[in-house]
Amino acid sequence: MSDRDRMIQTIEAETRKTGLTSLNPAVLDAMRRVDRSAFVPDDAKPEAWANQPQSIGHRQTISQPFVVALMTDLVDVRPGDRVLEVGTGSGYQAAVLAALGAQVFSIEVIPALAETARRALDAQGHRSVATRVGDGALGWPEEAPFDAIVVTAAAPAVPPALIEQLRPGGRMAIPIGYPGRSQSLILVEKGMDGRVESQTILPVMFVPLTQPI
Ligand code: SAH
Repeated sequence: MSDRDRMIQTIEAETRKTGLTSLNPAVLDAMRRVDRSAFVPDDAKPEAWANQPQSIGHRQTISQPFVVALMTDLVDVRPGDRVLEVGTGSGYQAAVLAALGAQVFSIEVIPALAETARRALDAQGHRSVATRVGDGALGWPEEAPFDAIVVTAAAPAVPPALIEQLRPGGRMAIPIGYPGRSQSLILVEKGMDGRVESQTILPVMFVPLTQPI
């Protein structure tokens, strides 16, 4: 079995273990198509397809494939959707969202990571991903509203600017909690009437959302 197929199988097994309903096949297909090894540093390439987080330098990590799949599934991305990602990191999550046909806007606070991610995204031909350096907690007002928002760093609370920039009917996946402590993956849904509802999905562990230095 190929590394890719094994990764998909592990994601499916992990989904069953957590008692979640099954993931959208389109999400699994996107994860099979995106070359994860193109987004990890050289020393991590042999392990690129394992279901574990990988260090990408600057004390940051790319999430394990199961968590990427789950967050992507939760926000229910359709082709043509405008999706904001906070925390570009390696560019992998952005690539998966783009593989689903989304127009992706991704913000990274560490310039060196943003640059490496940009190069990897270009090398993989992901032209539908726009990137920029900045504080993702402020969102990307010029490109708002977004059909979906994926935040890949943990905050103590949902940044108000992100709620504002979510379109009515839109969905946001965000880890809430403090660094090094237990955090919860939260799904935020904005109703057509603008009302916001949240539900807790799963305990997770993410690096913190930080202020630009
Ligand atoms: N989605 C990434 C994983 C990101 S790890 C991937 O697929 O590889 C979390 C990232 O969030 C780190 O790169 C970190 O530098 C970034 N980050 C932390 N605080 C941020 C902020 N305020 N704005 C934008 N990015 C931030």
